Amino acid sequence: MDSAKNLSVAVIGAGPVGLAAAAHLIERGLEPLIFEAGPSAGAAIEQWRHIRLFSPWRYNLDAAAVRLLEASDWESPRPTALPYGGELIDNYLTPLAALPAISPRLQTGARVISVTRAGMDKTHTRGREGTPFIVRVEHGDGETRDHTVAGVIDASGTWSSRNPLGTSGLPAIGEDSAAGRISSPLPDVIGRDRKVFAGRRVLVVGAGHSAANTLISLADLAKDEPDTRILWAVRGASADKVYGGGDADGLPARGQLGARLRRLVEAGTIELHTGFGIASLTPLASHVTVESVDGRILEADVVVPCTGFRPDLDILRELRLNLDPAVEAPTELGPLIDPEFHSCGTVPPHGATVLAHPDKDFYIVGMKSYGRAPTFLLATGYEQVRSVAAALAGDREAADTVQLELPETGVCSSDAGTSCDVPAAADGLVAETSGGCCGAPEPVLVGFPTGLAHGRSGDNN
Ligand SMILES: Cc1cc2nc3c(=O)[nH]c(=O)nc-3n(C[C@H](O)[C@H](O)[C@H](O)COP(=O)(O)OP(=O)(O)OC[C@H]3O[C@@H](n4cnc5c(N)ncnc54)[C@H](O)[C@@H]3O)c2cc1C
Repeated sequence: MDSAKNLSVAVIGAGPVGLAAAAHLIERGLEPLIFEAGPSAGAAIEQWRHIRLFSPWRYNLDAAAVRLLEASDWESPRPTALPYGGELIDNYLTPLAALPAISPRLQTGARVISVTRAGMDKTHTRGREGTPFIVRVEHGDGETRDHTVAGVIDASGTWSSRNPLGTSGLPAIGEDSAAGRISSPLPDVIGRDRKVFAGRRVLVVGAGHSAANTLISLADLAKDEPDTRILWAVRGASADKVYGGGDADGLPARGQLGARLRRLVEAGTIELHTGFGIASLTPLASHVTVESVDGRILEADVVVPCTGFRPDLDILRELRLNLDPAVEAPTELGPLIDPEFHSCGTVPPHGATVLAHPDKDFYIVGMKSYGRAPTFLLATGYEQVRSVAAALAGDREAADTVQLELPETGVCSSDAGTSCDVPAAADGLVAETSGGCCGAPEPVLVGFPTGLAHGRSGDNN
């Protein structure tokens, strides 16, 4: 960083990648200032704490964070075990956030609402590079304050901006006013959110593993709560992509999941509506009606939007960004992860150079760096922030020496002709297979119930 060497580096978001960024900055002798919108570290993962990760601990821990933790009485989890989201928080993020090295530098309930250069809007070029950034934050005390920093690492993820239900990338007409009848993208159907779904008409929208697992969980719920009615809308002409290869699937567990879903549809437990691009929602007193572009109407009590996520770029409006026009990832990265052409995360290791923007010393990392592509892996994010911290510290050689020990990738080429959605078991949460996929290591336990990080699975197609 050329500018103001004594200023902090703002880190937006205290998810796994934001906290890892902070750990790397500290190792580099830089001063992180972490803003987390939620009440605690891992606030986004908190929303899916009931879901098991498909990648084991060994790939979910950042090296610099572990070095900090190891100086405390932290007990490292078994490297081969597969944590639930909740365990990632309880056994890793919470202890990390509580360390004396991190805790005083972390502000929770602090939502970043915009980032700019001090005293200059986006149109000003002269002297831009040496000018500090202003990070505007809405704090928990109700006040909005500007923080002056030397660099910014945006690790705010994509959880808070799901894709709309509307078929053209826009919210369906009436979607906003129907918000009260739209659940979170990954509800805990069997547990925490059971009451919302038991005995209700539930419409699941989307054609990925998120949808598949929610549907299967709903079918389990319906066994105990027989009045539960399960509707499933996909934009495409069939749900074959979600069913996968059935018994012949190269990934047996994925096959099991798809086969079970197909059986549930064929048995009438799940009512499938194909070619159902959503045009509008009309909230009524007792339910919501959902109309397709060709005029069909479904009635539901609750709608589950398994439509994927996109980055919130609004907060970055005053910065000069370098983003792929389709994927909204950094320009060089975009074509490598475009879900239209890549079924999996066959992404070469990359760091500060690939992630750089015209506004020097500003980086988007982690889930958000993949824009609309759903293939991000934590291991990738940890290498990103190692490199970015090195770049901010002026260690160009370390920044450019990017290495990534990604797990085996058995079926992960765009030529494989198969989606790299991670298989999930019949229970909808945990599965086992021997082939690596999307960075899932061997032996692979890949209960990825979402499709969010794999394949083009989050969308309604
Ligand atoms: C269900 C699911 C399962 C997954 N399983 C795996 C897996 O097995 N292996 C794997 O490698 N990856 C997995 N991923 C993908 C990815 O690793 C995770 O999404 C991971 O949480 C991304 O980390 P992150 O730090 O980039 O973002 P997040 O974890 O989303 O953290 C972002 C943080 O920023 C905060 N924030 C957002 N906006 C603001 C703002 N304006 N101001 C301040 N703070 C803000 C949020 O509250 C949040 O705490 C999974 C993803 C999902 C959704």
